[in-house]
Amino acid sequence: MMIPRCGVPDDITNLTSLNQSLYRFPSGMPRWSEFELTYSFSSSVPVDQDFSGDHGDGVPFDGPGMVLAHSFPPQDGRSHYDADESWNTNPDMNHMDLESVALNELVHVLGLAHSQDPNAVMHSGIAPGTIKRDLTQDDIEGIQALYPNSLIILYVRFKK
Ligand SMILES: [Zn+2]
Ligand SMILES: [Zn+2]
Repeated sequence: MMIPRCGVPDDITNLTSLNQSLYRFPSGMPRWSEFELTYSFSSSVPVDQDFSGDHGDGVPFDGPGMVLAHSFPPQDGRSHYDADESWNTNPDMNHMDLESVALNELVHVLGLAHSQDPNAVMHSGIAPGTIKRDLTQDDIEGIQALYPNSLIILYVRFKK
């Protein structure tokens, strides 16, 4: 069964892991400076659902199902959500949880790639109705590896 997934590619040959971790980073481990993080994330979480099909960044969305969203690593940081999905913030089995997907996307913006841990927020796939709104230990360790200042974790928690 093909479950919906984030559009950020997880081609293993282009990813970096540390000490056989399950979490991964884009090649070169790009990250933001502490100053940029404070500037970009302290006010609000950007969730822009106005993207559909070919939206001008060379990575077109695919209509309903499958690819849900994608984001670009530091120091680009754009985050796009496929407007053709059935988003909801209180999803049943026919809807995708916007907050769960947004948390995955936001952590991509911080600089993580997809994790091999199926329970991690940063796993590539998420079934309809699934809620993953809390970072797992794997997610947190990945973020801390990039940003030893753990205060940053508070900024990426996506709560309404
Ligand atoms: Zn993702
Ligand atoms: Zn896009």
